[in-house]
Amino acid sequence: MLKLADYARVINKCSHCGYCQAACPVYLEDLLESHVARARLNLINAALIEKTIPVTPRVKEIINRCLLCTNCTRTCSSKVPCDEIITAARIELSKEAGAVDSLKKFVMRKVLNQRGLAGVLSKAGAVAQKINITSMEMPTLAAVPFDRQVSGTIEPRGERRARVAYFVGCGTNFLFPDTGNAVVKVLAYNGVEVVIPSGIVCCGIPALAEGDLESAQESVRINIEILAGLDVDAIVTDCTSCGMAFKTKVSKVFPDDDPMQEKIKPVSDKFWEATDFLAHLGLVAQPGELKGRYTYHEPCHRGWSPTVDDAPRRLLASIPGAELTEMEEPGRCCGAAGTFYLEHRELAEKIRSHKLKDIRETGAEKVVTQCPVCRFYLEIQLKDQKVVHPLGYLAGAYGL
Ligand code: SF4
Ligand code: SF4
Repeated sequence: MLKLADYARVINKCSHCGYCQAACPVYLEDLLESHVARARLNLINAALIEKTIPVTPRVKEIINRCLLCTNCTRTCSSKVPCDEIITAARIELSKEAGAVDSLKKFVMRKVLNQRGLAGVLSKAGAVAQKINITSMEMPTLAAVPFDRQVSGTIEPRGERRARVAYFVGCGTNFLFPDTGNAVVKVLAYNGVEVVIPSGIVCCGIPALAEGDLESAQESVRINIEILAGLDVDAIVTDCTSCGMAFKTKVSKVFPDDDPMQEKIKPVSDKFWEATDFLAHLGLVAQPGELKGRYTYHEPCHRGWSPTVDDAPRRLLASIPGAELTEMEEPGRCCGAAGTFYLEHRELAEKIRSHKLKDIRETGAEKVVTQCPVCRFYLEIQLKDQKVVHPLGYLAGAYGL
């Protein structure tokens, strides 16, 4: 479980090799050793586990000035789950929540766990302004969320090759229903029956990033109860962060002996990112010609599957006329990280600037990426390029 005291032994496994330094987007901008994972872990150990130093505002700043991008965890030579330890530290810190933190938790629960309720988002927008989130920085919500556009079971075209449940994350549901439509159509076009479970809520990652364990538990409980009861071959999501949540995080929001664990494992085992799932299943429908150049931004939350990072390349290579132009560093962070960009504006913009430069240098007309937050955060600065989900790009080649 994400209980900080349990990580004391794991923190000591750090060999101080420094691999996490070059991988950390925050360090690469700040150039401060205290912002590298190994230093953050030592600080967390001293301030919150051994309690040999006080929890000063600077200690809190170091714990919070982290994107939870998982780059350090992915590169760690000692397999230290750095991002999880930082999350556990935030959970510890949030126990002394003040008024603003309580307000944030209120928004979190309302928006993330009751997304089906009409009007909740407009109320949340008003509350968001009270905590200094201006409307310019808030993404524009879709006129009609995806779950009001498509529901039930979508029959496959031709012989059924698989039956999947589609976990629709908040980004797709509220910001980019076009991705949801593309996922459903492309899967069905390739012989996959798609079930859209009703009552699904947020995956829990945004709550965990805020150190709000209770909200995360609430989300996970709701989702797992729904997903565990479905008779499907796989559960797909278009969002790499939602996939990471179900594959590697949701079991950690409950104690090991919690009865929820029995239901979580089979659900977790079935999770795939939709592009990855389709790349493994193989296309039965040949895409039509789609002339143009695209580039691919690999979302940071890609370490939960060995093939999710390359799946868009493999799948889109089957489109005649579509040309992939790789950017300098496809796996470099874009700076968004959920709501990180709202609270660390200047830093996030600096991190994004490298990504924007890399994208522009490719000359590509389109950027594909599986993360809706990356899509939003990049698109608001890109005038000549459109950002789409890889299956959105493929849907275009199918003329769907
Ligand atoms: S990569 Fe891992 S073992 Fe190496 S310094 Fe960073 S946290 Fe420690
Ligand atoms: S999760 Fe990302 S931002 Fe945070 S310490 Fe690790 S590499 Fe740096």
